[in-house]
Amino acid sequence: MQWLFCDFHIHTTWSDGRCSLERVVELYGESGFDVIAITDHVLDSESIHRAGKPASELFVVGKEEFPDYQQALWSAARKSWEKYGMLLIPGVEITNNTSRYHILSLDIKEYISPDLSVEAIIEKTRKQQGISVACHPCVRNHSGDEPSVHLWKNHERFATMFDAWEVANRDDLFNVVGLKKFNYIANSDFHEERHLLSWKTLLRCEKNVEAVKEAIRSNDRVSLFLYRGGKIK
Ligand code: ZN
Ligand code: ZN
Repeated sequence: MQWLFCDFHIHTTWSDGRCSLERVVELYGESGFDVIAITDHVLDSESIHRAGKPASELFVVGKEEFPDYQQALWSAARKSWEKYGMLLIPGVEITNNTSRYHILSLDIKEYISPDLSVEAIIEKTRKQQGISVACHPCVRNHSGDEPSVHLWKNHERFATMFDAWEVANRDDLFNVVGLKKFNYIANSDFHEERHLLSWKTLLRCEKNVEAVKEAIRSNDRVSLFLYRGGKIK
């Protein structure tokens, strides 16, 4: 069985990414990746309210826009498979900047509100046969913010509730996640072309969405990979 080159955390111009969905597919497809997930932001209503602007002006996917977003991803997934043999998994980054948690929900079919508790988001993701991933649990960004501090503060409780944790996000490796021996994956948190060069995941499984999801859940044939450019295969 083959090792698949994967990246499960990618933003496009549907939220705050700089590249269009089409450009992202071209970039990863030309580089030879096997699996990508598109995970644009949906944002909690308190943060939207604080900003004093509609979601459409905040570089996030609004609830009303979600069906169009999903349609665009399904259409891109078809093209990606036909042109590059690359799986594209529709996803979302459930972003709660009030209570501070960012969660990837992969392969969901219906909108999940970021206002829900972490437990409810995980539960709703599972009910839709999706995968939930704790994002960048230990990151402190330039402004001193810790966007997922709630997840790390409660990591004992959430440890096995998530299907996986990000052990690396872009250039950052979280040795504390590795030390806990949690299920892990590594992602680019891609927002612009230079972010292609970053930590990624290798999974040993068949190239179809169900097999990839099962490989993340079982997490026994998983590896990290630092992509430095060029054509993979
Ligand atoms: Zn995030
Ligand atoms: Zn992100």
